[in-house]
Amino acid sequence: MAANIIDGKKLSKDIRNNVKERVASYKEKYDKVPHLVVVLVGDNPASVSYVTRKKRDCERAGMKSTIIRKDTSITEEELVALIEELNDDKDVHGLLVQLPLPDHIDKNLVIRTIRKDKDVDGFHPLNIAAIHTGEKGIVPATPKGVMTMIENAGIDVTGMDALVIGTSNIAGKPIGMLLVDAKATVTYAHSKTRDLKKHAQEADLIVSAAGVVNLVTADMVKDGVIIIDVGINRVEGKLVGDVDYEGLLDKASHITPVPGGVGPMTIASLLENTLECFEDLEGIRE
Ligand code: NAD
Repeated sequence: MAANIIDGKKLSKDIRNNVKERVASYKEKYDKVPHLVVVLVGDNPASVSYVTRKKRDCERAGMKSTIIRKDTSITEEELVALIEELNDDKDVHGLLVQLPLPDHIDKNLVIRTIRKDKDVDGFHPLNIAAIHTGEKGIVPATPKGVMTMIENAGIDVTGMDALVIGTSNIAGKPIGMLLVDAKATVTYAHSKTRDLKKHAQEADLIVSAAGVVNLVTADMVKDGVIIIDVGINRVEGKLVGDVDYEGLLDKASHITPVPGGVGPMTIASLLENTLECFEDLEGIRE
């Protein structure tokens, strides 16, 4: 059986086009567009590249985006004061602080300071809690992208045995909670899991978010398994995921490629979150 390849690149393009159309319509009707502010501390090359990309993608969708760059000498107090100022700024609808932050700054304090309804990353404890309680909140971009891909592929996870590999706050844990909410039976695996193969063999759906090359291979899974590969690893200059993509093509029923899978969906979901924050803060929705 040849697997259906879930094309994250195409789906993300459709989502970005939809966001762009909605933004254009709000601009015409209300003369307002969503504004995302990204705060970047220091000059970590990967972070600079991520924030530049976020700004570019916002602008391509017709949104306004500003990068505020601060030197690593900024104190925790000064950064918190900057966020509070942006929280109160009516011209700002989405606000994120690019991680990692320098060691002298408490990341959790900074995230807690961001207004819950401008927290486009969905990292604020109240937004994390909303996933668990089923309340309305902002869902982090990667988990949101994963769920959109599953739904768009026409997969109903009700009753499925799902294995989520990885338990980080930004990927594994919220992905598992969203799957529970969608009525899957979820098992989490992590670096201390004794027998990953045993759990993988029982799974109808595997989401791997570990950052380990070749972690999931064809001999570990059952026929027809659905594979969502969140991992991004660099091998000899090439991007690969956590799963043996080639080896699984004949065994899985659905699989996401890397690159071109979850990665582009994360960006599209961030744009959706920014637009939804704008709609809520401005009290408009079509
Ligand atoms: P993390 O380092 O915070 O967490 C990794 C998790 O994987 C931990 O829970 C760890 O216990 C588990 N793990 C590590 N080795 C394992 C093993 N051998 N077996 C089972 N579990 C193991 O990482 P993260 O920030 O959650 O990111 C995970 C991966 O997903 C990375 O490759 C990252 O680049 C990628 N990622 C991709 C996107 C995207 O947009 N596609 C977004 C976020 C993260």
